[in-house]
Amino acid sequence: MSHLPSTPLGYPRIGPRRELKRALESHWAGKISAAELAASASELRTALYERLAGLGLTEEASIPDSFSLYDQVLDAAVAVGATPARFADLTGSELYFACARGDETRPALEMTKWFDTNYHYLVPEIDADTAIALSDTSVVDRFTEAKEAGYTVRPVLVGPLTLLALAKGSEADPDFDPLERLDDVAGVYEELLSALDEAGAPWVQLDEPALVTDNLPASRADLLDRATALYERLAGVEHRPQILLALPYGDSSTAQERLAATGVEALAVDLDRGQLADADFSGITIAAGVIDGRNVWRTDLASATELLDKVAATGARVVATTSTSLQHVPHTTKGEVWEAGHEEHLAGRLAFADEKIGEIATLARGLADSWDAIKSEIDEATSAIEAHARAEGVKVPEVRERLAALTEADRKRASGRRAAQEERLGLPKIPTTTIGSFPQTQEIRSARAAHARGDLSTEDYRARLREEIASVIKLQEDIGLDVLVHGEAERNDMVQYFAELLEGFAVTKNGWVQSYGSRCTRPSILWGDVRRRSNLGTEWITYAQSLTARPVKGMLTGPVTIIAWSFPRKDIPLPEVADQIALALRDEIDDLQEAGTAIIQVDEPALRELLPLEKTKHADYLDWSVGAFRLATSGAEPATQIHTHLCYSEFNQIIDALAALDADVTSIEAARSRMEVLPGIADSFTRQVGPGVWDIHSPRIPPTSELAELLTLALGSVPADRLWANPDCGLKTRGYEETEATLRNLVAAAAQVRASAE
Ligand code: GLN
Ligand code: ZN
Repeated sequence: MSHLPSTPLGYPRIGPRRELKRALESHWAGKISAAELAASASELRTALYERLAGLGLTEEASIPDSFSLYDQVLDAAVAVGATPARFADLTGSELYFACARGDETRPALEMTKWFDTNYHYLVPEIDADTAIALSDTSVVDRFTEAKEAGYTVRPVLVGPLTLLALAKGSEADPDFDPLERLDDVAGVYEELLSALDEAGAPWVQLDEPALVTDNLPASRADLLDRATALYERLAGVEHRPQILLALPYGDSSTAQERLAATGVEALAVDLDRGQLADADFSGITIAAGVIDGRNVWRTDLASATELLDKVAATGARVVATTSTSLQHVPHTTKGEVWEAGHEEHLAGRLAFADEKIGEIATLARGLADSWDAIKSEIDEATSAIEAHARAEGVKVPEVRERLAALTEADRKRASGRRAAQEERLGLPKIPTTTIGSFPQTQEIRSARAAHARGDLSTEDYRARLREEIASVIKLQEDIGLDVLVHGEAERNDMVQYFAELLEGFAVTKNGWVQSYGSRCTRPSILWGDVRRRSNLGTEWITYAQSLTARPVKGMLTGPVTIIAWSFPRKDIPLPEVADQIALALRDEIDDLQEAGTAIIQVDEPALRELLPLEKTKHADYLDWSVGAFRLATSGAEPATQIHTHLCYSEFNQIIDALAALDADVTSIEAARSRMEVLPGIADSFTRQVGPGVWDIHSPRIPPTSELAELLTLALGSVPADRLWANPDCGLKTRGYEETEATLRNLVAAAAQVRASAE
């Protein structure tokens, strides 16, 4: 029996050059077969093993096999046969991709955020009739494939409890609690464990992050009871690999002692967001998550070794690991070029996946020998961190002073807003608008790329943007919308666009991170104090406004969303980071007002995403996140209408915070749930609401009757003088055809409902 080596909990699977993305998309486009896709995935994995071994993961089971063609939750669901009845006629990769993406007639599984990250997983649908049985053995096949290539990897699977705790009932039985199928699913995992043992796997990793969150329907205590029985059962399987039970993404301290006693050989605990319980762990291996798996900062090795010493003091055998899978960070810092003047301190301070693997290898050497053996690496990390802390821009006195001088009054808007805005805007009841972006055409993307390459002059690029804005304005006037937008053509991304214009951010060339399936984002790195270098784009709004007599909304991204979709610094508290961004936005809002903008929208689609997994931390989080939004927006005159937009439908835990944002108008996602969220929020909400009536996630064109029906439903909770008509979200991923047709229907539906509400 081999000992568990130091190891990361998982590794990005998209490929250093996004090879998997390309292969998947070619397959979906019908350009390569399923077999060709499998071959390129296999090639990618073998190259990965070779690279990881080169970075120091040479011991048996130190390379994790956390590969997935699309999503790890879908993989586990497919392995146990938990696929929806509507796909019963499909098998193999057809079934897999139909679950992930739907087909002409059948919708995909719902997609939602994985814990408090920006990664999206697919929500399995399970009921009493779901035929739970071992249905896919890819994980075993991959083990064998690796073994044949000379690597004894460690298969990584989402554990049975987390799989079911994240699942939902089926179409036929939406109220079914998937956890009722835990015994059946455990039976399939027993079979999988035996099959892995037979294939020769010394270790398997089962991820159970469901045990670190209070935000699931099942309670933490209930989940722990179930987990204890489950792992006693799995540990009792006669011929099986040793089990590493991983508890990433948060604090598992209240669960560790019981889980350690179930008979599993090792526990992985997140020591970045959580702690190790004060208990006796002798007889078990603790994989101590001392390396932050979800951020890009180099590890302070001196502190890491202190933590590892503490873990050793519990009697446990200790190895080093990451707090979560490294799937949330880009592959490598190699090849990145940082902005002039910041190259050195940033290069020294950052560690992406490969560099973190290097840190694991270093800590492994220290654990095997002594900390003295890695003294030079520890010292090097310490001095790089110190050099960064001293670097220009990390601490800008002017920003700090402004922050220190803030008072509660800076987060409070004036009263009398409703009347002042009505007088200024003169909008009809149930005004129509959109969320901001219009379709991002290939031409605009190409123009941006050509400009970035230097093939299109700034002057020509700007002329191109103005043309686009003019055509979007003309289209909206023609459709008859009441409140117009400029369309956001100048933005590559709603966060990166601002990151590129603000001080304190660095952007990467190749820092891609999987968002879902083949979709990747390139989060910016927020490393220093934030302030505006210059205006953030008022000119585009004023240009749009100059073309029309109707109001054009100014569009900004809120502080929490900017933080959530970047890699934020960790050397100062997040609330301070949020306030710095808020002050920059506040100045931008001043500029917009001065230029005559009457309506300004500050989007906060990630407000729910960053909600801490621990209930005891909710109040504090909501306090600072709402405070930052208010700091950004409260400089607005009473006659300036502030909008905000949030796009998800799990509002229950944050309803009060939503109201506390104190925006004049709030647009939310509501179409998919058919306005289900409205009755719940209507009570706490005294201001205007725009529940989305068009689900923009599909190219479908909803008819006027459907949109009118949803608006009428909404009137059951919100009076006509507080209701807006708008889509669920921005239209950047839609085409012009469905955009124009649906918006015409939307205007017609609002007119109908308006007339009958008179
Ligand atoms: N204003 C943004 C847009 O329309 C909002 C996007 C979002 O909520 N994710 O694209
Ligand atoms: Zn949205």
